[in-house]
Amino acid sequence: MTSVLPKPAATSPGHGAAFTRHLYSLKYSPSLGWHGGELQPMEKLSLHPATLGLHYGQVIFEGMKAFRQQDGSVAVFRPWENARRFNRSAARLAMPDLPEHLYVDGVDRLVAADHGELSDDPDHSLYLRPLMFGTDANLMLRPSEEYLFLVMAFVAGGFFGDVVRPVSVLVSRDQARAMPGGTGDVKCAANYGPSFVAQRKAQEAGCQQVVWLDQAERRWVEEMGGMNLFFVRGDEVATTPLTGTLLPGVTRDSLLRMAARLGYRVAERPVSVDEWRAGCASGEITEVFACGTAAVVTPVGRVRDVDGDFTVGDGEMGPVTKTLRTALVDLQHGRTPDVDNWLH
Ligand code: PMP
Repeated sequence: MTSVLPKPAATSPGHGAAFTRHLYSLKYSPSLGWHGGELQPMEKLSLHPATLGLHYGQVIFEGMKAFRQQDGSVAVFRPWENARRFNRSAARLAMPDLPEHLYVDGVDRLVAADHGELSDDPDHSLYLRPLMFGTDANLMLRPSEEYLFLVMAFVAGGFFGDVVRPVSVLVSRDQARAMPGGTGDVKCAANYGPSFVAQRKAQEAGCQQVVWLDQAERRWVEEMGGMNLFFVRGDEVATTPLTGTLLPGVTRDSLLRMAARLGYRVAERPVSVDEWRAGCASGEITEVFACGTAAVVTPVGRVRDVDGDFTVGDGEMGPVTKTLRTALVDLQHGRTPDVDNWLH
């Protein structure tokens, strides 16, 4: 897509409130299937108080970003991956499948309409938020028959502020995000509301994020509130395996492939809090970083835990984190060859 609209001055948009002017919507009913796709001004919805999704949590969403390219156009990073994950979420919540081309078409139409609101500032992006929920005005305890698919966007700066600084994290020992057989590996709204108490606790402890552990043994690191975790040990770049209780991040997948191409020994293997602590004490684990659409690649500097706090490396961003962050950001902005066709 070529940029034709005037580019607004770069201001600091933060994360989550600088909505663009349009909203894409598409409806589903059993008789018509997906129908009535339209772009409309971003405005309030009118919902029946008994809207089923509001009561029973039949709500799923996605998060992707579009980036300004060297030639002034705007490209979305790996939207087909998110479309697939969206459908896995839909299936888990007994919601209808949304054909991937309809998902990407909705995203395309919104980006085509609103990309002019993204400045040239390379630290800004267009965060895209597809959402789908059951709309039946019916309180029977069953899946909705009708659904609404929406795509909205906001201009995003940094998730943790405008400067990349190492974050501190709190290991959650008393609360759970997901359990085997649950919904931890899909992106449903119900995974997030219950995590806010732990997130608030982390903030009160001076941390930016919660580290979630497995629920069987409460010793294996799973992920964080909105991002996956990587550990650098010697020439190994490791992330925790997809056990079914953590979200398969698109950024996680991208970094696994990019790190392998850059010559690192990549691994998907269990990492315990004990290994993390001991590895940092012995100097064998030199870097830990978080990754996600919102967080990009963010170093973890300090860990707070009931068994004692510790620092990762010297608490600053390490060279592997920096290399991978730069590689990802350069690719997303079209500054390096897009060998995997990840830019759409
Ligand atoms: N884990 C959780 C719980 C998340 O919400 C996210 C953000 N979608 C991630 C990991 C990272 O996923 P992605 O790289 O696809 O943004």
